[in-house]
Amino acid sequence: MKKLLSLALALTLGLGLAACGGADNAGSADADIPTGFTTVEEGVLVMSTNAAFPPYEMTTDGEGVVDNFEGIDVEVANEIAKKLGLTLRVDDMDFDAALLAAQTGKSDIVMAGVTVTEERLAVMDFSDSYAKGVQSVIVPEGSDIATIDDLAGKKIGVQRGTTGNIYCEDDFGADNVTAYDNGMTAVQALKNGQVDCVVIDNAPAQELVAANEGLTILDTNYTEEDYAIGVAKGNTALLDAINAAMAELKADGTFDAIVAKYISAE
Ligand code: GLN
Repeated sequence: MKKLLSLALALTLGLGLAACGGADNAGSADADIPTGFTTVEEGVLVMSTNAAFPPYEMTTDGEGVVDNFEGIDVEVANEIAKKLGLTLRVDDMDFDAALLAAQTGKSDIVMAGVTVTEERLAVMDFSDSYAKGVQSVIVPEGSDIATIDDLAGKKIGVQRGTTGNIYCEDDFGADNVTAYDNGMTAVQALKNGQVDCVVIDNAPAQELVAANEGLTILDTNYTEEDYAIGVAKGNTALLDAINAAMAELKADGTFDAIVAKYISAE
């Protein structure tokens, strides 16, 4: 009898805990997804991002996939959330803040075309990679910059906190690099003649060049990288669930269908 009572007490306490966040979401996930993960808010997967990075994450004027957000990362995260029995919420902020939010447990995941680097692996954990990224160089048509070596001594615009920012400062000196809030403001500075080029991931570079006349992308890539989903260091239960969900989305064609919707195969 005593045993039964304490069991009942433990159950009640457990339920009470689950109800006030830091939530144990076990039970609502798909059968094949490992359970035992917790999220910032019960029933919700919070994704921090910088929604100025088309085609991975951007805002829409009309109805988006989640609120007014759309893009590859948003749709993939939405499918992962469903498999985990959660509802996706997108928190839009600067890129460096989006990384920090996941590191400090303010968001569950950062999904923002995030490149896996040694430095970031020291402060956060990453899922299996889901895409390849490339750092490209945008220049005005007719620029005398033709190769990566020509960037030496030029004024380079980048997006703050990105790999493009870090690599350019390492290779060409911080004095030659100006960091902007996002790719659009960097490209605006290029059009205004404040910088000579912009180094940014290739997928947004393509969109930025298509949307702005008189710009072109160098044929040579600066670096090649892997994109993955970031979580707080040690959040293995959530990472396992995400990797399992992503594997299913890749196996059943959902992932490819989302990518095809946003990036036309050449
Ligand atoms: N892939 C780059 C990085 O991780 C840029 C990502 C972004 O600007 N959203 O630094």
